[in-house]
Amino acid sequence: MKTQQFVVIGLGRFGSSLALELMELGYEVLGIDRNEDVVEEWSHLLTHAVVADATDEEVLKSLGVRNFDCGIVAIGNDIQMSILSAILLKDLGIKTVVAKAISVLHGRALEKLGVDRVIFPERDMGIRVAHQLVTPNLLDYLELSKEFSIVELKVPECLNGKNVGELNPRAKFGCSIVAIHRESGIIIAPTAMDYLAAGDIMVIIGANKNIEEFEAVIND
Ligand code: ATP
Repeated sequence: MKTQQFVVIGLGRFGSSLALELMELGYEVLGIDRNEDVVEEWSHLLTHAVVADATDEEVLKSLGVRNFDCGIVAIGNDIQMSILSAILLKDLGIKTVVAKAISVLHGRALEKLGVDRVIFPERDMGIRVAHQLVTPNLLDYLELSKEFSIVELKVPECLNGKNVGELNPRAKFGCSIVAIHRESGIIIAPTAMDYLAAGDIMVIIGANKNIEEFEAVIND
């Protein structure tokens, strides 16, 4: 099977970390930045890295950008550059175009251009960190909708040795443990007999208000 190819435009903090992670995951990455020093810094870590202005259509064509599976516009501060690059990637016919936005209006403009996914890294990280700060055992969460989420909670000392049946979050709080993650492996859909050990990570699914009640009780 052909390895998926990504083109990352703008190798700032966000673009470079995204590009490196894609490389780690085994994908091919072309990094484009107009700053020569930046390209030099990352060139040996990416499949290819080139100095180019991503708003120059002819340059993008000559780099064969249209053949990539996904293009990511990781330019934030210069909204004009971000929007022009996104238009060009869409016009060149890249299947999936993702772009970083630094404000709500910037995001709306990108969506109107037909960008497939607009991301707000600073806003989303701020929200994520706020949740983690007020919920000591919360490691991560995924919002499924406004009402429902999946969260990863560290099993606190007070639950050490208890089994899922005793805890029974489904009956008591209306949320379910869908997995228990520990060093020795992952238990998917644990039964009432599966026990919890301090430091394990439990993956919980449910309505946000039910998960919050459950979190409050286990944090006491
Ligand atoms: P980060 O927060 O990820 O560091 P940023 O939003 O602060 O990014 P920007 O100034 O938006 O940083 O630019 C990110 C990168 O995009 C920079 O390395 C910059 O050189 C590059 N860049 C900006 N405009 C273009 C362009 N037209 N063509 C290619 N690269 C560009």
